[in-house]
Amino acid sequence: MAITKVWVEEDCTSCGICESLCPEVFLIKDISTVIEGVNYSAYERHIKGAAESCPVDVIKYTE
Ligand code: SF4
Repeated sequence: MAITKVWVEEDCTSCGICESLCPEVFLIKDISTVIEGVNYSAYERHIKGAAESCPVDVIKYTE
């Protein structure tokens, strides 16, 4: 399955884990943001790893 959309819901604690695991997709500003225009499927394993590693479970994606 291809990941078509990635987003971060409220309550990100800006811990930085997602950005360290996949800087091609996640960028910490005040909170984590998802970089637009990325071929998310190319980073599927890292996106799923970030979602599993997020301590507050706010990384979501559709596939
Ligand atoms: S891993 Fe989760 S809590 Fe940490 S910066 Fe990323 S989205 Fe925010």
